[in-house]
Amino acid sequence: MQKWTIKGLLDWVNQYLSEKKVDSARLGAELILSYILEKSRIELYTHFDMVVEKPQLDRLHQLVKRAGEHEPVAYLVGKCEFYSLEIFVDSSCLIPRPETELLVEKAIDFLRRQGQQKPLVCDLCTGSGCVAAAIAKNHPSASIIATDISEKALVIAAKNIAHHKLNDRVELLCGDLFEPVIKHVDKDAFDLIVSNPPYVSAAEFQTLDRNVKDYEPQSALLAGEAGLDVYRKIAANIDGHLKVGGAVMLEIGYSQAEAVTKLLEAAAAFGSIKVEKDFAGNDRLITARKCQ
Ligand code: GLN
Repeated sequence: MQKWTIKGLLDWVNQYLSEKKVDSARLGAELILSYILEKSRIELYTHFDMVVEKPQLDRLHQLVKRAGEHEPVAYLVGKCEFYSLEIFVDSSCLIPRPETELLVEKAIDFLRRQGQQKPLVCDLCTGSGCVAAAIAKNHPSASIIATDISEKALVIAAKNIAHHKLNDRVELLCGDLFEPVIKHVDKDAFDLIVSNPPYVSAAEFQTLDRNVKDYEPQSALLAGEAGLDVYRKIAANIDGHLKVGGAVMLEIGYSQAEAVTKLLEAAAAFGSIKVEKDFAGNDRLITARKCQ
């Protein structure tokens, strides 16, 4: 029987996934093999000639087959990386996107410049908890209340918050946007409100890649005909939750800057409302500061 080495397997999986038109086939091959062999990606390269035994080969085949059907590798291996943190995921939450690191970066930057001793942050639609975890991990004293309507997603978020030892500063609450927050904090309590809400329009949903459309939770993606339903609800309730001088930061779809700006203009006395672009040059984030 043919002996399979790590090198041989990486090449084979890469080729198989490439033929199935899976994005980032080589990376996918490395991630799946690291997971099965319980080795880091670097260790795969330092053990190139190691022979992989049958039970592990069988498990590998199963996962590679699923990856070939465009099931996201992050779901297959149960984790991914976000803002240099290991984040657990499953099919009840969205897989963190690199674009969302912009939201985290601007949030941390705002909190540092604001210089508040113990800032209070609200993260709406937290999903896996990746944004809350990344902000808390990179700010020594921020406390975060993170909410999500999905109990299942919050199970994953809790796992992430515990994994990064943030239980004393990140509180997870189940409910619709601000609704579960009301009992926990005073009016105008937050220094910063962040969110990466569902924002995909009905038409855009049809154009999404198979790995997103067929596998990620629709409730974390879709937000009505124009993708604006959740922003509308956030805007309607934001004024009562944000301190004067506090900021709101919302991730947006590439064509939503104008519509979301209008919603915020009508929502509270926001000073300059800014649109930030992601590394691909697309509008990705709206930030605004409450001035009175
Ligand atoms: N950016 C994501 C995508 O296009 C959507 C994320 C969201 O709706 N919050 O897949």
